Amino acid sequence: MSRPHRRHPILFVCMLVLALVAGSAGVAVAGKPGGPHVPPGQEDPNRSAMLSYEDVQAELKAIEARSKGAVQVEEIGLSGESRSLSVAYIGSGDTRVWVQGRIHGNEPYGAEASLAFLKQLAAGGKHAREVLEEITFVVIPLYNPDGYEAYIRQDTVHGIDLNRDWGVDRDTFDLVNSIRVDGGLAPLPDSVFDNYTRHRAVESQAHWYLWADFLPHYMIDIHHQGTYYSGDSDDMTTFSMGISLDPGMLEEAQWDAVRQMAVVAADAAGKNGAVNVTRYPYINIPEGVTSASMLDAPGPDGEYAGWRTNAMFFETRGGIGQKSRGYLVKQNVAGLWAITDAIADGTLSDVDPDRWTDIPPRGAPITQCTKFPQQCAY
Ligand SMILES: [Zn+2]
Repeated sequence: MSRPHRRHPILFVCMLVLALVAGSAGVAVAGKPGGPHVPPGQEDPNRSAMLSYEDVQAELKAIEARSKGAVQVEEIGLSGESRSLSVAYIGSGDTRVWVQGRIHGNEPYGAEASLAFLKQLAAGGKHAREVLEEITFVVIPLYNPDGYEAYIRQDTVHGIDLNRDWGVDRDTFDLVNSIRVDGGLAPLPDSVFDNYTRHRAVESQAHWYLWADFLPHYMIDIHHQGTYYSGDSDDMTTFSMGISLDPGMLEEAQWDAVRQMAVVAADAAGKNGAVNVTRYPYINIPEGVTSASMLDAPGPDGEYAGWRTNAMFFETRGGIGQKSRGYLVKQNVAGLWAITDAIADGTLSDVDPDRWTDIPPRGAPITQCTKFPQQCAY
């Protein structure tokens, strides 16, 4: 079943005008390598413990079929290798929440977590019904199906990082900078913008138009990182909360909202004894999806949605074998519920955003040598 699109007449006109005026932003430089990813030695974990592309498609269809009309699955386009880019809608509330997984192909559990969450929402019951009266969700379990099947971070057609392909242009950056009350950040060199790619991949194009159509108030993007300590303790962190922009690039209300999201998710996930929550290090990547959605970044034809989402990301630890799968998926689901519960019952805005800095910082990486020094003695 296809859900009627929420097209806004003003948005349409703006898109048309801007498309005519701006033309296409055509910089095509390969994405920067690096960033959070599954570390060396963990590139090829046991994939039988993970949902394949076909498994995800089948699970989406099964959830839709069982939901008696509550869930609608829609294909928003095709990947570079013609796999389906499928998303699920559920809920009838005025507040719109976007949940996405596997934008990085070798970071699997965003699919498992977002589907588990969707399944719980679709299962009915009082709790889910109350949330769905307040919130409409779009759930994107597999943003980068080709990358997942090849088990690489990037897409397979261009080899670019799809989470660096919603490139903010200089005009957007300067506009954001000009409205800052403190006078703005120092001017950035052209090379920063030259490193961005802008909707070069079809996956980026399809998801940007979905974003401009759905206009989410909130977004949670699910990733994996390497294996790290929690602060300077000897404990391993299992789950980090991340914000992808310098606070100076955000409106004050956005900076509050994204920290409030992180705090409630950290509180809820941390109640599980196996989960050890930390704060992801400072990062400022305007060209990432969460960032671009917060900055009203332009679309593939230079059009603007005129919208700012409150967006943050989850990072689950590496070492993603069969044994740890259960609680690693569950910590993400707990975080998703916590954020959406707080949105639905109106308590999110009561949370003290400054508690963000009470979340312990992510510590040093745990390497094989750190854990087993005798193996590295030679
Ligand atoms: Zn990632």
